[in-house]
Amino acid sequence: MAREREKKISRMTKGHAWLSIVFYFIAYHVVTLMLVVILGIVFFNMLYSKVSSEYGSVEYLARIYETSRRAGNKEILDLLDADDRPFFVKDIRGNIIYQQGENTCSKDAIRLGIPMMGHEILVYTDEEEDYFHEGFFRFINFDTYELDEDFDFSEQDLEKFISEHGQQENTQDANAAEDLFKSVTVSLISPGFGMMNPDNMQDTIPVWLPVKINGGTYTLVAKVTIGISVDDTELIVAMVQSFILINLLVFVILLFSSIKSVQRQKEITNMLFMDDDTGGHNWLWFLVYAEKLLCKRRNAGRRYALVNLYFVKYRNYCVIHSLKAGKKILWKVYHTLSGYLGKSAMVAHVSSSSFALLMEFSVEDQLKAKLSDLIGELEKTDSDHKFSFQAGVSVIEASIRRGRIRRRKDVDLEKEYNDACNARETLEPSEDSGIVFYDDRLMEEQKWIDAVTEHQERALKNEEFVVYYQPKYSPDTNELKGAEALIRWQSPEFGFVSPGRIIPIFEKNGFITEIDHYMISHVARDQRKWLNSGFNCVPVSVNVSRAHFIESDLAEQIRDMVDEAGAPRDLIEIELTESAFFDDKNALISTIDRLKEYGFLVSMDDFGAGYSSLNSLKDMALDVLKLDAEFFRGDADSKRKEIVVSEAIRLAKSLNMRTVAEGVEERDQVEFLASQGCDMIQGYYFAKPMPGSEYEDRMRRGVEGMFKREVKSEDKADADSTADAGKEVNAD
Ligand code: C2E
Ligand code: CA
Ligand code: CA
Repeated sequence: MAREREKKISRMTKGHAWLSIVFYFIAYHVVTLMLVVILGIVFFNMLYSKVSSEYGSVEYLARIYETSRRAGNKEILDLLDADDRPFFVKDIRGNIIYQQGENTCSKDAIRLGIPMMGHEILVYTDEEEDYFHEGFFRFINFDTYELDEDFDFSEQDLEKFISEHGQQENTQDANAAEDLFKSVTVSLISPGFGMMNPDNMQDTIPVWLPVKINGGTYTLVAKVTIGISVDDTELIVAMVQSFILINLLVFVILLFSSIKSVQRQKEITNMLFMDDDTGGHNWLWFLVYAEKLLCKRRNAGRRYALVNLYFVKYRNYCVIHSLKAGKKILWKVYHTLSGYLGKSAMVAHVSSSSFALLMEFSVEDQLKAKLSDLIGELEKTDSDHKFSFQAGVSVIEASIRRGRIRRRKDVDLEKEYNDACNARETLEPSEDSGIVFYDDRLMEEQKWIDAVTEHQERALKNEEFVVYYQPKYSPDTNELKGAEALIRWQSPEFGFVSPGRIIPIFEKNGFITEIDHYMISHVARDQRKWLNSGFNCVPVSVNVSRAHFIESDLAEQIRDMVDEAGAPRDLIEIELTESAFFDDKNALISTIDRLKEYGFLVSMDDFGAGYSSLNSLKDMALDVLKLDAEFFRGDADSKRKEIVVSEAIRLAKSLNMRTVAEGVEERDQVEFLASQGCDMIQGYYFAKPMPGSEYEDRMRRGVEGMFKREVKSEDKADADSTADAGKEVNAD
């Protein structure tokens, strides 16, 4: 589709004007040829009429010769001889049987006249003065005729000459002057007609005319001279002049039309390539000229960046101000861009908030620095606002492959731009300026995000999300004290998917609230089911996302769901992540208070990871503190970690909170935590997250054998892969 359009545009940009220029060129030559043909016809017709009048006298001569020869009338034949007209008679084989005067008849015959018109006369040229063959152009020869040495053809001189001669008394001189004047006038019309000999006002062309006699057995060929008068010449000259004039006129008109059509085409293409909002170039222009630039031989070894530059919140600006104000800003942005980049780059306005740039570069860091400098300039476009711009960059590598330059089909600008847009869209949730380079990993990630988003509703409906339980044990007694519900996705397309690969996506696209509901109601139903089956149930904690806490009736929603499933509220624990404590504090406190009021346990998840929430502990009466797994990972600075952990446990105790240590894998850690009075251990040391059926076994057993299990090496590998959000966890 795009190719088709490009072809059309390129046809428009070059084909059209050239076609009309070629047409005009041909038209001009046709007109010239026509004029030459007309001129030739007129000229030959004139000659023909002159020759045909001479032909009459030759026929007359032939008749006299024929009759007197037959009659053997010697006197008349002698009379003919006495006439100084040269002629000869030849027989059918060409032998000359009679001759009078000098025979200078050439062997070449010319057919004079227009065959189509039915009249034609055979004419032989005169060898001595061959006007027709070598001398047609002698007739119109362009040598300037000099009147005398000190006379040239300036008009003043001429007037002077005439007045001098005209004033003389002598009538002979006066006549000569007048004759001279005539010829000179003609010469002035078209200087240099060789025949305009002032001594001989009438130039003559000698020709030989044949007439058949004696029933065609003999031919009499006589020499005649055809006179070309001043009038004839004037006619020809006038015709030649008017034809030249017409020709010139046609030439000027066609030249003018050619220039006009080139101009018009330029205007059309300019219009086609102009962007209405910015007065600059549009995407179409970019497609055509960026491709040309990339395919130039001298650019083959250069790296280029195709950038999608996005004006963040441009639409908001238009809504708050006006569309007109928005366009004004766009105009400014475009001109800042083209002013900053100058001739080193190509800029086009693609759509309301997007611009395309094509920049040459060699080192990515330099390009990044230049772009952030440029964005810095753009942010200052309006003194009253601080705008943000995000850039996605797709790199077009230097393309000399086995010495070959980039070819049109190697350059897919739409794809490159699309890549740049995709890279840039990964920044979109933020309102800040930023720059991202496209790379395949980033796009794989994007594809995954799209696939998850596309399947999420169906997965929820089909119950593809499975609840896994990770038991929590007392480090003192090894007794089962609780569990955490963790989601797994059993996808028919993607197999077993760990939460690290889906939860961040759901948090971004808002689907997390559905997931939270799903998990709470499933856990509540399980608890009810297990109670009914006589299990010794312990509290199960469910993760509730930070995004969910924005809803003011969250506590009520949870209460209703749990009640509906018929599970005792104190068997459900709600886990909040530390980061949630940064949102609206009062609303959060209120939700926590109500949850506790309804009889739920509330815990703070991931304590110690990233943010400091000591302050939150002061305000919120939580039941459980979950120490982040980070405390128990690796053994660098283990002494310091131990101090922090034991202090955190002490703190929790003095705030009347129970403690859960997450991610515990080693026996020493369990021993240490037990010595510090940690209430529960949730970690691979005791158990990985497991399906409900396995968790039932754990409930049945209640107590695990005292330190009976070391973490096996393959468990460790699994543990590491859990840390990597991209991998799946296989709980067994
Ligand atoms: P989290 O809430 O901190 O959950 C604990 C994570 O640590 C779990 O990862 C668990 O498998 C892992 N873990 C527990 N013990 C060990 C251990 O000894 N070693 C190692 N290496 N890892 C251990 P999981 O199941 O992959 O979940 C990852 C995160 O996804 C959770 O972190 C939680 O933030 C989120 N998540 C999981 N399920 C849900 C859910 O249903 N709703 C919400 N909102 N978030 C969930
Ligand atoms: Ca958790
Ligand atoms: Ca946690």
